[in-house]
Amino acid sequence: MPKTKIKELRNEIDQLNQEIFKLLSKRAHIAKEIGAIQTGLGMSSYDPMREKEMLEDILASNQGPFGDATVKSLFKSIFQASMEAGKKADKPKFLTSRASREDSVVHVGDVPIGGDHAPVLIAGPCAIESKEQVEITAAEVAKHGIKLFRGGAFKPRSNPYSFQGIGLEALQWARAACDKHGLQFVAEIMDARDIDMFIEYVDMLQVGARNSQNFTLLKAIGKTQKPVLLKRGLSSTIEEWVMSAEYLMSEGNNNVVLCERGIRTYEQYTRNTLDVSAVALAKQETHLPVIVDVTHSGGRRDLLVPLTKAGLAVGADGIMVEVHPNPAVALSDQKQQLDFDGFDKYLQDTAYKTKLSKKRNEVYGF
Ligand code: PEP
Ligand code: MN
Repeated sequence: MPKTKIKELRNEIDQLNQEIFKLLSKRAHIAKEIGAIQTGLGMSSYDPMREKEMLEDILASNQGPFGDATVKSLFKSIFQASMEAGKKADKPKFLTSRASREDSVVHVGDVPIGGDHAPVLIAGPCAIESKEQVEITAAEVAKHGIKLFRGGAFKPRSNPYSFQGIGLEALQWARAACDKHGLQFVAEIMDARDIDMFIEYVDMLQVGARNSQNFTLLKAIGKTQKPVLLKRGLSSTIEEWVMSAEYLMSEGNNNVVLCERGIRTYEQYTRNTLDVSAVALAKQETHLPVIVDVTHSGGRRDLLVPLTKAGLAVGADGIMVEVHPNPAVALSDQKQQLDFDGFDKYLQDTAYKTKLSKKRNEVYGF
């Protein structure tokens, strides 16, 4: 007899479980609907005040047998689970999102970045300082079989009295040098009003750390099809960085490459701290290629080789490094640019030359 009773009660519990589950699923669907409306309005789906009100309401009708603390913890889990379900449903909506998408490959001229392609190197001076300087550096970079050349014509300096870059003339010198040596030219753009000028002279637009959340600039660049190298902001979270990429893509530009360049931490031995987790996560969470800028990450010449290895080991699609004919007299970043002998040694120590023209899976694991 008691056994029959237990069976009956258990059946009742099974039924209740089904009902609770149905109600929880119904609740999650409604929460998701609210989340979608909030996302559309640019609002966060987490509202602590609303949670507090709901808990108070529930606790007010608590007649046992559960104590208030237990009821609170049960409902908090329900709130959390509904919110997570909403977030998961939101994710694939982002154009940057990995979702089910394959790796994107961005072509800068005829140079592919990302996917199964061998990691690229982007090399050149911090700033373009003269016609001669850009010419000899481009020749040096090309000599090693490197295809992507960098150089700043407009420099975003923290100090307004520091060298600001030569501007248009520098873009013209670099364009001529790149054409002569078969290089693709990457340069930083700081002002949306300069887009037409940049489109004429450069092959890839760099958005620097300081402009990483300049949404006017991002939207304007998003309306072009120029490949973009998007740096992570000085102290940006991964989400902020990826959302900046989303700004570019939401306007129609799919040629976006992310660039980790170190973030500000309390550490004083390095200029910034290279966030290798961010590189791995950006690869995991988005389908975009990721480059590691080793020069600005550490701000130290003696870290260029280990940071390059670290970047590639966590899945970077390429590295950016600064090279100058005579760093001691450079107008910016004197401490971390490599001279030509140093560059040669850097290429040997990172075994970069053996990686050229190989497939990604053949070059990792060195
Ligand atoms: C640069 O690459 O020239 C530069 C200024 O870097 P960042 O924007 O990362 O500081
Ligand atoms: Mn620099």
